[in-house]
Amino acid sequence: MIKPFGKKVWLSSPTMHGDEIKYVQEAYETNWMSTVGKNIDEVERIAREKIGCNYAVALATGTASLHLAVKLAGVKPGDKVFCSDMTFCATLNPVVYEGGVPVFIDTEYDTWNMDPVALEKAFELYPDTKVVVVAHLYGVPGKIDKIREICDRHGAVIVEDAAESLGATYKGKETGNFGDYNAISFNGNKIITGSAGGMLLTNDKEAAEKARKWSTQARENAPWYQHEEVGYNYRMSNVIAGVVRGQFPYLEEHIAQKKAIYERYKEGFKELPITMNPFDEENSVPNYWLSCALIDKNAMCKQVRGETEVAYISESGKSCPSEILETLAKYNAEGRPIWKPMHMQPIYRMNAFVTREGNGRAKTNAYIQGGVLGKDGKPLDVGMDIFQRGLCLPSDNKMTIEEQDKIIEIVKKCFSKI
Ligand SMILES: *Cc1c(COP(=O)(O)O)cnc(C)c1O
Repeated sequence: MIKPFGKKVWLSSPTMHGDEIKYVQEAYETNWMSTVGKNIDEVERIAREKIGCNYAVALATGTASLHLAVKLAGVKPGDKVFCSDMTFCATLNPVVYEGGVPVFIDTEYDTWNMDPVALEKAFELYPDTKVVVVAHLYGVPGKIDKIREICDRHGAVIVEDAAESLGATYKGKETGNFGDYNAISFNGNKIITGSAGGMLLTNDKEAAEKARKWSTQARENAPWYQHEEVGYNYRMSNVIAGVVRGQFPYLEEHIAQKKAIYERYKEGFKELPITMNPFDEENSVPNYWLSCALIDKNAMCKQVRGETEVAYISESGKSCPSEILETLAKYNAEGRPIWKPMHMQPIYRMNAFVTREGNGRAKTNAYIQGGVLGKDGKPLDVGMDIFQRGLCLPSDNKMTIEEQDKIIEIVKKCFSKI
């Protein structure tokens, strides 16, 4: 009998080290309790040096950073913008804040990120598109050089959402330095955290200056409050920056812990009909933020998801994400479904969706559990397929080996029941 965890095992919770409180204390004692101060200057410097970009603007959230990035990219009302489809909504909601219209680009199996083939198709369908917003899901870099090459050929700028992938590299270069305007996040569940916070990164000096100005209410240089354009209250607090400053030195340690978790799962699941979330082993080094599993098609028990509810039929030798997540929850461990693709979200159901074979809406509306296949015999709607068969596993870097062994046993149990 496996006993439930006495202390909950989290998906990904903050891990503090002690330095954070010193910098917060310093902000307090020197009375820099505002959006100006040494902590902010330091986190901007550290981020620039770590990521290798020329300019960094510390902001209140990753979402605010993406919003300013989208503004810098010049998105105007009615503009179509190509966006990652299988991602967190904050990647592309800022496009909508600016009146833009997201066109969702399907996912590839190789990295679970934007499929360059589908992106190329999208430029055939909507050749006037000038902005592409691309995320690196779960800390795994997408094929960003291929995406860059396509965008350059079509004269489009890239907004890179590296919120989940801080510290991950592609061909030796840090994510967050591939786009024209890039965002990272220090939200509480990310690889390092300030409890909240984000940063805009760019190599464009003028863009960085604009973002800095917009983020502090767009005040003009005048003795009074003088305004020529709309501003925002998006700057990072010096208190929050103290936490981020204390966390940055532990980024590599967190990545090493997350990598060990990923590898232990991989080893533990060797005999099971599941694979781990893949990455381009030749070209990329992920930060392993979340470990995810994908159940083989023929090992899936029947699982039907409605808008907000799910039903499944338990079957010996098979399982499904819902069954595993339910079982983990019963044992006091937190997993999560794969981020539900944006083209499946009620709010974005009318937006265009492009697969590797072109207009995905036309072809996949009749999708039933993997029903519509592409010419290559694989599901045409890759995001929907991964959402159906995949799940995020407890990936907290404070999880002990014993706890993780137990998680592995619980997952095994889901497949071996009689
Ligand atoms: C967390 C996250 C964001 C938003 O960051 P916040 O700091 O929470 O606003 C954006 N995109 C992705 C992919 C994220 O995971």
